[in-house]
Amino acid sequence: MRIGVPREIKNNEFRVGLVPGSVQEFTAHGHQVTVETGAGIGIGASDDDYRAAGAEIAATPALIFATADMIVKVKEPQAAERAMLRPGQILFTYLHLAPDPEQTKDLVASGAVCIAYETVTDASGGLPLLAPMSQVAGRLAVQAGASALERAHGGSGILIGGVPGVAPARVVVVGGGVVGENAVEIAVGMGADVTVIDRSLPALDRLAKRFGPALTTRYSTKATFDALIPAADLVIGAVLVPGAAAPRLVTAAHVRAMRPGSVLVDVAIDQGGCFETSHATTHEKPTYVVDGVVHYCVANMPGAVPRTSTYALNNATLPFGLALADKGWQAALTANPHLKAGLNVCAGRITHATVARDLGYDF
Ligand code: NAD
Repeated sequence: MRIGVPREIKNNEFRVGLVPGSVQEFTAHGHQVTVETGAGIGIGASDDDYRAAGAEIAATPALIFATADMIVKVKEPQAAERAMLRPGQILFTYLHLAPDPEQTKDLVASGAVCIAYETVTDASGGLPLLAPMSQVAGRLAVQAGASALERAHGGSGILIGGVPGVAPARVVVVGGGVVGENAVEIAVGMGADVTVIDRSLPALDRLAKRFGPALTTRYSTKATFDALIPAADLVIGAVLVPGAAAPRLVTAAHVRAMRPGSVLVDVAIDQGGCFETSHATTHEKPTYVVDGVVHYCVANMPGAVPRTSTYALNNATLPFGLALADKGWQAALTANPHLKAGLNVCAGRITHATVARDLGYDF
């Protein structure tokens, strides 16, 4: 199969669909890979690195879209890219169609076979192609919070781990799923005094068993928030109610009760945020201050570390991409219902129940 990897053109997107090591896997399976010149710059991979992995380099995206049987990307195709999709061509990337009727209309019109990373499932009910980005965001949340706690960045001047003889920062992680567990891991590793709040007892049980006495677990009630948030130095918001806006668990009154220079990192901002005072920010200006409390609410946190994020994403997407290339999309989807769950648009029809329902298409 001919695989095409265009350079990402969405604003501030530095990730890339395939790293050189993944290209090597595709070519070892007998496939041809064409990469747009400069596609790997954001992750430190040169055209020569891709050539060494067996890829051809194309000068323009048009050349890639015109010849590839499968396009492998990271972000949803932009309008200019959608115009180049062909009937029967496979598009394997993040799509996030439900809030994007414009893109959906174009993908339906294209006749392409569009498989969305974010709806591929696994045997335990998880979303394996979304999880790597949650891992990155959870780990980065502590790093971003630690930086914001520094005096020069508006913070209260507390070192997360303290030093012998000086107390560490009090870190509260709200939501103990993939983001929360990764945030807990880094915060505990840095020596913070860490508490996780969740409404799922199995989630709290799993975290308590994993981290032992290094982590305090608390059930999610208003009383828990009233007791813990005003005393926290760093609060990380990591809740998710699938298919719904994030619940606003930390109120404006909680924020007013915090010490000036304390920090809130709202990872759940892509679902509207779980702090009442949150609004989305960008990597250019990631923080703002409300009542003396520093807020970091970047909606695409993994974009800050495109290199790590791209490799993490490739580790998860590679087996599915190879299956699509080796078997062709029909046989690959028939063989694997979890990959089939990723099929959102196929040959002019919406093939994902939730996307069809949310956007008013027949299913
Ligand atoms: P997850 O489903 O693995 O975990 C969510 C956790 O929230 C679950 O354990 C759930 O029980 C808990 N929860 C739900 N309601 C709660 C409540 N009322 N009180 C306490 N806990 C509650 O989800 P995840 O993968 O960890 O993702 C968390 C959020 O982070 C999502 O909104 C996701 O989209 C977002 N995210 C953002 C970025 C970014 O760049 N900002 C990157 C990755 C993920």
